[in-house]
Amino acid sequence: MSAEPSSPTRTAAELSRAWEELDTREILRRAHSRFGPRLAVGSAFGKDGVVLLHLLRTQGYDFPVLFLDTGYHFPETLAYRDELARELSLSVVNLSPSESVDAQGARLGAELFARNPDLCCELRKVEPMRAALRGYSAWFTGLRRDQSPARAATPVVEWQELSSDGAGVFKVNPLARWSRGAVEEYLAGSGLPAHPLWGRGYPSVGCAPCTRAVAPGAPEREGRWAGTGKTECGIHGSAWPGRPSLGLPTPALAAD
Ligand code: SF4
Repeated sequence: MSAEPSSPTRTAAELSRAWEELDTREILRRAHSRFGPRLAVGSAFGKDGVVLLHLLRTQGYDFPVLFLDTGYHFPETLAYRDELARELSLSVVNLSPSESVDAQGARLGAELFARNPDLCCELRKVEPMRAALRGYSAWFTGLRRDQSPARAATPVVEWQELSSDGAGVFKVNPLARWSRGAVEEYLAGSGLPAHPLWGRGYPSVGCAPCTRAVAPGAPEREGRWAGTGKTECGIHGSAWPGRPSLGLPTPALAAD
């Protein structure tokens, strides 16, 4: 009987099984060994991302840090990004959408985030991230299983399709097994500055119009797109614009 043909999805599943029980630093080492210089890190400078960046820098790695500069960040987030970049000597790559907030508003109407947050995220986060990831073999994320039910099955390694032509990238989630408490403990011991909003009721900070403060001890992502039913921006999925399962109108249709 012939062996099942290899595929990126199969390779990712095999790596994920093999790396599941490894120490986080060993996962970083193996990812570097396997994917070499064509690795990047995606980070919004949230708590998990900062842990990951600190782990990488203290192990001597200097991968490009892909930051989605959506035009809607809190000023505190941009200042924190710059502070961490200095503190950890990071190579930050700011990814901008194809249109400014004003140009998007002129074409699709103001405050698209309030009318169609999926489309707003598609234009301001998913498209720029997918375009950037085409230049890499793999990327690290700070995803954790206990962040939300939607992330409970996060594997250590997965294959992420970027387009319908089969192009894709390996996604490595070294913190998949970490708990919220472990992240807090690591940060407390790291000596790194904290995002100023973390202590003001924002355990997870996204774009300002789509992030609210939450009560102490609330689920950490409760303040993201609160009251809309939306839980993810879309950059971690394998759908691409135009794919039927994405269920998004095209920008031209949305303008009607
Ligand atoms: S988080 Fe909100 S403002 Fe930011 S891209 Fe998504 S919908 Fe737009």
